[in-house]
Amino acid sequence: WFAAAEYVPPDAIFALTAQYLKDPCPLKVNLGQGTYRDHTGKPWVLPSVRQAREQLLAQGLDHEYLPILGLRDFRERAAETALGSAIYSGREKLAICQSLSGTGALHLVGLLLKKCQRPLPKVYIPEPTWSNHHQVFRSLGFQCESFSYYDYERMRLDWDSYLSVLDGAEAGSIFIVHACAHNPTGCDPSKAQWREVGQIMKRRSLFLLFDAAYLGFNSGDLDEDAFAIRHFIGELKLEAAVCVSFAKNMGLYGERVGCVVMALNSHVIARNTQSTLEMLQRSEVSNPPAFGAKIASVVLGSEKQRRTWYTDLKTMSGRTREMRESLHDALIACGAPGTWDHLKQQSGMFGFLGLSPEVVTILREPSSSSHLRDAQFYSVYG
Ligand code: PMP
Repeated sequence: WFAAAEYVPPDAIFALTAQYLKDPCPLKVNLGQGTYRDHTGKPWVLPSVRQAREQLLAQGLDHEYLPILGLRDFRERAAETALGSAIYSGREKLAICQSLSGTGALHLVGLLLKKCQRPLPKVYIPEPTWSNHHQVFRSLGFQCESFSYYDYERMRLDWDSYLSVLDGAEAGSIFIVHACAHNPTGCDPSKAQWREVGQIMKRRSLFLLFDAAYLGFNSGDLDEDAFAIRHFIGELKLEAAVCVSFAKNMGLYGERVGCVVMALNSHVIARNTQSTLEMLQRSEVSNPPAFGAKIASVVLGSEKQRRTWYTDLKTMSGRTREMRESLHDALIACGAPGTWDHLKQQSGMFGFLGLSPEVVTILREPSSSSHLRDAQFYSVYG
């Protein structure tokens, strides 16, 4: 039955983590997987999440199924968090469905688009991007097209390419955009550039799929990080899909807490779309996991808990910024060739150093390069 199954090499990011775990070097650092670490190098349970967890445990938890669309309080609070209360107040034009974190949200939106569009539109994906974007949409049968997003020489947004792709794409195409903290470049359009992107998308009838995996993690300010989402939906009145993840901004990586929020043109379309999402969810996972959604719902549920979360967001984004600055200063101090200003201009979880593959190999396997075995290397790079 399965002789036709092809051997698929392990996922690059998870394979790197497996390699990291096997590496006996005491000074190793895992720079691949996007998971926040505290100053001791350990995973950080956010104080807001810890408090919510304690509150839930004190109330007594059961392990009943959630409804197919997910936990109602969580769905509503997640949508309001991403869209802001002004847009959320028109919620009769929204379809909201809890998902298996951000990846599950992307997959659900892919299924929904597949159900509603004939022939299948092309999906435009920035290059570089999070490695799973292509896989999720290709596995659903979409034709994916990469467009140059980053100018590797100048270490900044490839703005000309972005504009020409928007202008040249077939009307009705889908664009996947990172709402903020672009993975892996840490380089986002400015507000003025987002406005320009919005104008073209509106004029050319392109569909926008926001991958919102870092809201609040980027700048420490949710409203700032949700600017593009709110501009497209609230001001330009465009239909759009928002794939929200609470993996990074609440540190709920393994709990798989996410949400699909569809902003639609009418109450009827929203009602029908939500019912279609419900049917798709039923056939995929029956109903989503409860524990993480309950935690997120408590965190988002009161002004007091939210304030604690906002402080946590500032802690994570602030520390990430400090790390970026220290790396910049250390590279300058040790006379590393090249310019490193781009490190300080980037934001979010990722620092895109712009090292050549050869240098990356040497850093990953210092024993492969004799001059890197000496103590001076470790004092600088360790
Ligand atoms: N989108 C982007 C841009 C990401 O970086 C990630 C996680 N690395 C995700 C989506 C999905 O994450 P998750 O499924 O864990 O929410």
